Amino acid sequence: MIQLNVECPHCKHSLLDEKHIIDGHPSACLLFECEGKKGELYLSSLYGSHTSKIPSSVSEEDVLTLFCPWCNASLMSNRMCNKCNAQMVLMNLAEGGKIQICSRKGCKKHLLEFEDLETELKAFYNVYSTFFKG
Ligand SMILES: [Zn+2]
Ligand SMILES: [Zn+2]
Repeated sequence: MIQLNVECPHCKHSLLDEKHIIDGHPSACLLFECEGKKGELYLSSLYGSHTSKIPSSVSEEDVLTLFCPWCNASLMSNRMCNKCNAQMVLMNLAEGGKIQICSRKGCKKHLLEFEDLETELKAFYNVYSTFFKG
């Protein structure tokens, strides 16, 4: 599986947290707010993995607002999830491009967008070769 080096689209700081390992790799650390509750959550940085550490105060299907832990800027994008209609969350990739994930807990919708087609094809080739191997 490919690891995504996610960073904040505002301050460009890496969101990967070496202290919180998920799936054997540093996880993406984000701040969240949900119906008055605030905290930190951790998402696997592996493309295609949905492993995460989210506090149990967040219920399945709750919609979260996510923030950068470094500059506190909102990571919410203008795009809506076409599966469940929640707002998408936008993060940059250090390699160029961006990833958007659905802000609803339990919804697995995500979009990967690259700036140049070559990187995109390479990434998808890697994903496919992993599928075939596995
Ligand atoms: Zn930031
Ligand atoms: Zn969704």
